[in-house]
Amino acid sequence: MIATKKYTSDLTERRDQIWELGRECGLPILYICLPAELDIMLHDLSAGFYSPALSALVQKSAPQMWRGDGPGFVVGMPQTDTPESATEVFSAICCHELAHLVDDITRSEYRKHTPAEGETLLKVDFKEDSPIVDSRISPPWLAHEWRFVRALLHCQRRFVLADIELPVDESIVFAHEFYGLSRLEQFRECLRPELDERQDEPLPDAMRGYPPAAFMNRFADDVERWQALHILESRVLPAAFLSFDHSSEEPLAPNM
Ligand SMILES: [Zn+2]
Repeated sequence: MIATKKYTSDLTERRDQIWELGRECGLPILYICLPAELDIMLHDLSAGFYSPALSALVQKSAPQMWRGDGPGFVVGMPQTDTPESATEVFSAICCHELAHLVDDITRSEYRKHTPAEGETLLKVDFKEDSPIVDSRISPPWLAHEWRFVRALLHCQRRFVLADIELPVDESIVFAHEFYGLSRLEQFRECLRPELDERQDEPLPDAMRGYPPAAFMNRFADDVERWQALHILESRVLPAAFLSFDHSSEEPLAPNM
């Protein structure tokens, strides 16, 4: 195991930088936590998670960090060969989780915080491995749909503008094969005009309106390709998963 304490100070500095960037981009980030601070462990498959009600966990496990109800994310301590790459991987995980926050707050049904979300979060067993997504029931891009990809590309652009280095390997910030989607650079190519035009806007504003048709078409093509490969005759994907207006009224579980 690579020593994690060795890089703690670097990550703390980077964490402050990302917290500040989120604030400058108009986001209501309240919490960026490390697992040890909340006395939890992340699942083997998870590098971090976002919750709209992370404050519930903070209040319970680290009351000294609590600053009010609100969203936030937990980021695992990357295990890498060099401190530089550990910092970059940490930044990539933050960028991914930040995109979940942007995705969440730009959905029309976003609620700042509900007791139900806090209760859902407190019931998660962080010592157990997360269940593998059953692709016969849920598509692999669940929680990483076009809205998330768009948010991620905007977040990534803001990181670049703020000189926060990210790993060259983009699969760390977006595991496209795992999600059954195109590579991030392919989505970026389709979204480039919007990224250029809106890079100075607060992030929630930059998400307003529909993205370019080419971007939506790429996601739709991915969905179609996956369906052709995976849907068996009696397995019909719930329409909500395919809709561009997908929304859920269920309390949000943490997005890994
Ligand atoms: Zn995610």
